[in-house]
Amino acid sequence: MRQMIIGNWKMHGLRKAGTDLASAITTEIGTILKERDVVLAPPFTLLHHLFPLLSEHGVGLGAQDCHAEIEGAYTGDISAGMLADSGVSHVILGHSERREHHHEYNALIKRKVMRAREFGLCPVVCVGESGRQKEENLAEEWLGKQITECLPPDFDGIVAYEPIWAIGTGKAATQQDIESRLTFLHDALARHLETDDKSMRVLYGGSVKPEDAASILAVPGVGGVLVGGASLSARSFLGIARAG
Ligand code: PGA
Repeated sequence: MRQMIIGNWKMHGLRKAGTDLASAITTEIGTILKERDVVLAPPFTLLHHLFPLLSEHGVGLGAQDCHAEIEGAYTGDISAGMLADSGVSHVILGHSERREHHHEYNALIKRKVMRAREFGLCPVVCVGESGRQKEENLAEEWLGKQITECLPPDFDGIVAYEPIWAIGTGKAATQQDIESRLTFLHDALARHLETDDKSMRVLYGGSVKPEDAASILAVPGVGGVLVGGASLSARSFLGIARAG
């Protein structure tokens, strides 16, 4: 399976800086794309603007959220159809920052996942336990619930395992932790989707840096990485995308 490297820019990137960053990445991306898939997820305001550059170089365009409804009186929201219309191929859903700051919950995320599929977008659904759940040995129970409640039974997107305690903290999960969680998630997915196929892409995310990217990308079963902070520098993002 080809691994995927996704850059999640979060709420960073004015037009000039975002264009410079995307240009610096695409200039060097040719050899990387022989081995791996790459997607950049800038803020909504840059989607339409960056689409020609990214598509010309074979880089996917990702969004960081979409609304669950097709259209309507939802001031400030963006629909899956609008994303598709702007050239978006992937949409990150259920990120822990949206769960925390926008009170998103599993059933809502599932509706967003289905809406994204309806408009031909590939959902990248984030799951992950808090530090407290990890300490109290509740991580697997929580992850299992996120899988069954966020994903429709015919789900065919990507899952990103992002332990909340690792996001933006500079402390990535260990190789052993990632491997055991990925095994758990692949089993839970196969059960939920009623299939024997355990090849669904499950990415790891949380403080991935160029220095540890090779060891993370070597973890058995890892489908790639979702990179936040380190995706804001072309050098570190490319370092991660090339690692291994
Ligand atoms: P980080 O963020 O790489 O800055 O930890 C990852 C994410 O939130 O997707």
